[in-house]
Amino acid sequence: MQDLSKFCCQNKKCPDYGKRGANNLTVCSWYGKNNHIRLLYCRTCKKRFSERKGTPLFGLRLPEEKMISLLDHIAESCGVRKTSRLVGVHPDTVTRYNLAAGKHAKALHDELVAFSPKNQ
Ligand SMILES: [Zn+2]
Repeated sequence: MQDLSKFCCQNKKCPDYGKRGANNLTVCSWYGKNNHIRLLYCRTCKKRFSERKGTPLFGLRLPEEKMISLLDHIAESCGVRKTSRLVGVHPDTVTRYNLAAGKHAKALHDELVAFSPKNQ
């Protein structure tokens, strides 16, 4: 369970949008099959959102350990069928998670490159 200072408001209209450690978030509820995912509340804009919003895990249902294992295998260049066998999930699941993580990684890359120094 990560500290709330690692999270930020996901409401783009909020003055604290994207600000980590602004001390504006609280846990207002839990959800998911085992009530293991936190629903966060922003004191600034009064909106609620999943702790997974803005991450590649948002909307995906595998247990967290299995998700991380799946993505670790993909990151180590394991193919879809190998990963499927090793993690114990359907190959289509591997593909779906791979695509979700890839979209997130591309968005992060584009954001980081946009702010890289030009003369180095
Ligand atoms: Zn907010």
